[in-house]
Amino acid sequence: MKIHIAGIATETNTFAMAPTGLAAWEVDHGDGRSAEAQRWHEAGRRLAARDGHEAHFGLLAAAQPAGITVQSAYETLRDELLQRLQAAMPVNAVLLVLHGAMVAEHYPDCEGDLIERVRALVGPGVSIGVELDLHCHFTERMRRNADIVIAYKEYPHTDLVERFEELWALALATAQGRVRPVTAVHDCHMVGFWHTTREPMKSFVARMKALEARPGVLSVSFGHGFPWGDVPEAGAKVWVVTDSDQALGSRLAQELGQEIWDMRELTAARPSTVDQAMDRLAAHAGDRPLVLADSADNAGGGAGSDSTFILQALVQRGIGQVALAPFWDLGAIQVCAEAGVGARLDLRVGGKLGPLSGDPVDLRVTVRAILESHWQSGLGGHPAPCGRSVWVSTDEGLDIVLISRRQQAIGTELFTGLGIDLTTRRGIVVKSSQHFHAAYAPLASEVLYVQSPGLLNTDFANIPYRHRCLDYWPRVASPRHHADESRAAC
Ligand SMILES: [Zn+2]
Repeated sequence: MKIHIAGIATETNTFAMAPTGLAAWEVDHGDGRSAEAQRWHEAGRRLAARDGHEAHFGLLAAAQPAGITVQSAYETLRDELLQRLQAAMPVNAVLLVLHGAMVAEHYPDCEGDLIERVRALVGPGVSIGVELDLHCHFTERMRRNADIVIAYKEYPHTDLVERFEELWALALATAQGRVRPVTAVHDCHMVGFWHTTREPMKSFVARMKALEARPGVLSVSFGHGFPWGDVPEAGAKVWVVTDSDQALGSRLAQELGQEIWDMRELTAARPSTVDQAMDRLAAHAGDRPLVLADSADNAGGGAGSDSTFILQALVQRGIGQVALAPFWDLGAIQVCAEAGVGARLDLRVGGKLGPLSGDPVDLRVTVRAILESHWQSGLGGHPAPCGRSVWVSTDEGLDIVLISRRQQAIGTELFTGLGIDLTTRRGIVVKSSQHFHAAYAPLASEVLYVQSPGLLNTDFANIPYRHRCLDYWPRVASPRHHADESRAAC
């Protein structure tokens, strides 16, 4: 069998200022040279060799989350993906590695549009399998046009390849006529953030996996939704794919949705305020650092990674022995690079991208290190290039990492690669919501999630949506769906 693998993936923060244009995309035209595409080429080739099939690779494009994608950029990528697929036909299955929360101008549901066009091209006889990030908006258009859609189960996303292997197996079984997948969806009418590294979500993931072992159940997904994507079909949803048993799928999806609803107080985000975090840090005397997550400025959710609210508070409170990363500040990097290692200078840091970045902070710093090609371990361990990067320190003991490729903190090389010893710090401030957790939690005495002002505000009751239905928890205590499962209300 011939399996075509392709994808266009980004997470769109519809509230972010900077649009995502074509230059923001890393595009692989089928040769597997881009870092992001390599993952899928490796997995596809390995599975094809194991099963005696042919893996064929089309366009694979990825962009760091930011604002709405420019219409012409989306259409250019989509049309190339379709052309490459057409040139590869006939194929038996198409596997699409997507995100599920991509929005372009005039396309609130890019993935739905793309899958529909792929279906129109290949016809009803070819199996279409789709892998989504769990921060997706699972839409009716996606469900209708794909045979099987699987979302990651883990946040941080440590299971991308594992889910791809399942997708491969199920899409092939569909193409061979061994199963007939049907999908039942339950809308939880909730907006939230669910960390699967801790209870009760850890056990919930285990229960989803256990259900997949039941006869007739092919796959179970919980799409958490992306809170900062303002689209009509946003929100948390459970879907269950069964082998032709819609009633079983509906029952299980509803039961799992009810479990998520019942856990809502336990799983609700309860971040520390900046002041509370500073109090903890000032009093901290353990031999391991406190790790503070600056979630609101997570580049991985489309934020600028240049907000200064926590930096400002550290300066005002005179708290030292703290390392912070990453600040995306090209101007400051240029100034430091020209000054050179060892230079002492007055540097204006951060606060440039927009009002949610706060005010720039003026510091007297020493340039401690400059790397032209810095990197950190990204998701799945693949190196994520940070570009030209700089370590500056203040006399008060703040160590700041400036990087020129905007991204969130994931691997500890972000600091250690420049020479910063994390074990001797009182605190480590990482601009990330949760992907930092796998690498940083083992060094930490404790992880504190801090709610600074910013683009990724976790006050979910008050996100200024204009397009999605407002009948969701925690905006309302009891969304109408508890009394009336009909979705007509929204
Ligand atoms: Zn995600």
